[in-house]
Amino acid sequence: MTTDDMIISTSPHDPTDEVVSVRDAGARGIADAVERARAALPAWGVSAFERSTALLRCADALQAAADELVGLVVREVGKPLTEARGEVARAVAIIRYAAQDALLPSGEIYPPSAPGTWLQTHQRPRGVAGLITPWNFPVAIPLWKAAPALAHGCTVVLKPAPQSTAVGLRLAELFDGLLPPGVLQLVPGGAAAGTALAELADIVSFTGSSPVGALVRRVATEHGAPVQCEMGGSNASLVLADADLDLAARTIAGAAMGYAGQKCTATSRVVVVGDQARADDFAERLADAVGALAVGDPAEAATVVGPVVDQAAADAVVAAASAAAAGGAAVVTGGSVVDRAGAYVSPTVVTRLAADDRLLHDEVFGPICAVVPADSTDAAVRVANGVRQGLAAAVFTRDLTAAMSAVRQLDAGMIKVNAPTSGVDFHAPFGGSKASSHGPREQGPAARAFYTETVTVTVSPG
Ligand code: NAD
Repeated sequence: MTTDDMIISTSPHDPTDEVVSVRDAGARGIADAVERARAALPAWGVSAFERSTALLRCADALQAAADELVGLVVREVGKPLTEARGEVARAVAIIRYAAQDALLPSGEIYPPSAPGTWLQTHQRPRGVAGLITPWNFPVAIPLWKAAPALAHGCTVVLKPAPQSTAVGLRLAELFDGLLPPGVLQLVPGGAAAGTALAELADIVSFTGSSPVGALVRRVATEHGAPVQCEMGGSNASLVLADADLDLAARTIAGAAMGYAGQKCTATSRVVVVGDQARADDFAERLADAVGALAVGDPAEAATVVGPVVDQAAADAVVAAASAAAAGGAAVVTGGSVVDRAGAYVSPTVVTRLAADDRLLHDEVFGPICAVVPADSTDAAVRVANGVRQGLAAAVFTRDLTAAMSAVRQLDAGMIKVNAPTSGVDFHAPFGGSKASSHGPREQGPAARAFYTETVTVTVSPG
């Protein structure tokens, strides 16, 4: 929550638990941080070896504090313990990867057009990187942006989401003293701080909702800053005619409901090839698989579905299920808040929806999933593609030819076969299609290309 000048972050599991209360730095705080980051740029850009070594020290510090940070993630954003452990471990690996990446070749030699001359390129850091991040991966997303930016010589101003401010501040504390002053600054703030960062940074990387991403893109583009935005999804899993239905149901249940559906890559639509009866049958199997997932306190190791981030998010899930039911849909399971303290909503499966139902077109960021039939694989692909977003998709089938045909036709940046839409590899490019994404990919080798620019140098003998 942000008030006029304070950010107050409370636990979704127990809203009376105030995790942190801190002053919103606002536009002024961002301007000061950008100025310090600019002053730190020249020295930080000099030695890739020093950057690599410093990043390795950060990775060690994060690993040493892993248990404590995991506890804070569980408490502040309600991420189930097992997932939180995975996220922090991944973040350590991301920093180590970036530390090694800093030492890879950073230019190319070309044959010169004039004999006796020298033609080469080198990669130069783009400057101050402004990073604006969401709350749902409060460790991994800030670091999958910051680590490559730092590795390639940028300095960083990071504005985390208000709901994950405590995790952000703790990360900054962990790295304090391991990086030169001004090289990585965490600035707590809300929308005004985010806009100021998009206005002032030399390069901008945003992850969050589609409407905010559109604003950030406009602000950054207006002053000519390269900008990448990773935004929301409406991710489809296709269940083809030959698929193993129980395997698909178990996999999709985890992809749709894990972390209460609050992953940008969560499955929110299931397109079942066949008639309505097959879709109904699949919806029942999915409901059974969902029923087997442990719902409850995120601090319990067995919990798969914890709370959503706040009461408004819980209400949005219930409202979406009620609106679908009012339009004639069948709510197969869930659709109501859970009777306990905290922002808990029961995992929800809906089928027989009206064609214009919101659940088939927009992201409802929570544990709710729609099941629809399609006449053929081609028709299923058309349904999957018939939304503005295009982040992730999955295909369930035992037919390799059908799988690869669907992979070629699906408008999504990340496509899985017989695997959950959720889950990403930090060393491979990450990003979406259509309205889910703007600008170059994140992670893996794509990150170097984004945070640096190519300079072409021609040298003639003097
Ligand atoms: P959000 O868009 O509300 O906020 C994201 C960030 O933008 C926060 O730091 C927020 O403070 C900041 N912000 C808000 N208004 C701003 C403005 N006017 N100008 C500049 N910055 C502003 O998103 P959220 O609720 O934190 O995260 C959930 C959303 O993020 C979902 O839509 C989810 O799909 C998406 N997401 C996408 C990916 C991806 O990689 N595609 C990954 C994780 C989350």
